[in-house]
Amino acid sequence: MADLRGKTVLITAAGQGIGRASAIAFAKAGASVHATDINEKTLKELPKLGGLRTRTLDVLDEAAVTACVDYIGQVDVLFNCAGVVHGGSILEMKDSDLDFAIDLNVKAMIRTIRAVLPGMIERKDGAIINMSSVASSIKGVPNRFAYGVSKAAVIGLTKAVAADYVAHNIRCNAICPGTVDSPSLQERLRAQGDYEKARAAFVARQPIGRIGDPEEIADLAVYLAGATYTSGQAIAIDGGWTI
Ligand code: NAD
Repeated sequence: MADLRGKTVLITAAGQGIGRASAIAFAKAGASVHATDINEKTLKELPKLGGLRTRTLDVLDEAAVTACVDYIGQVDVLFNCAGVVHGGSILEMKDSDLDFAIDLNVKAMIRTIRAVLPGMIERKDGAIINMSSVASSIKGVPNRFAYGVSKAAVIGLTKAVAADYVAHNIRCNAICPGTVDSPSLQERLRAQGDYEKARAAFVARQPIGRIGDPEEIADLAVYLAGATYTSGQAIAIDGGWTI
């Protein structure tokens, strides 16, 4: 595991799922972690670990993002994990859903990156990790139009930031999971009516034969936080979905 001692990490959407597992993994790797989420209740349920502290943050609120980064001071690693999944094809989708997906899945990352970049440039060091998905420019997935559009944009913004700031020793990479067990995945399965049938269909599209664990994605986030020679990459971690 990477040694993140001496590094300060800001992570969004750390209250549950992949963000929660990552906040814990960063802390176990020795980092000083600022675990943020819009949901104060789930943040309070994070384990008490040395180096792990919590702060309520709505990434849709630019002023709150700026205030959060000002409060932390030096951010060495930014993990943009917040995101939302809308169902529906291009004909079924509501424009308001697309607008919301772009705001939360894409523009929120732009807000946080803008807030941390000046400090990273000054120190000539930084790691930015953006949560995308294989449902993006990597793979077309049925019933995920707004989601796929927004997560493809995450890969685009990741590569653009990487290209502009690699000479400042700032690395920017995207994580592209397949299907991962999380509270929102459980909600999506329950919403389909027949939970077992829906879960079996999600498992069937993962050639490895199971849904991923948040901790498996957290391991990649920790690796990218410590990686010093990798930038502009969209890394699939998907149980073989895109083999
Ligand atoms: P989740 O969907 O269960 O939890 C989402 C978290 O985001 C919640 O804690 C919620 O409070 C927080 N959040 C929502 N709006 C927010 C806001 N405005 N500001 C701050 N926080 C906010 O978690 P998950 O399924 O692990 O997904 C995390 C990320 O991983 C998302 O970006 C998602 O798109 C991506 N992803 C998930 C999967 C999967 O199968 N679970 C697959 C690929 C990518």
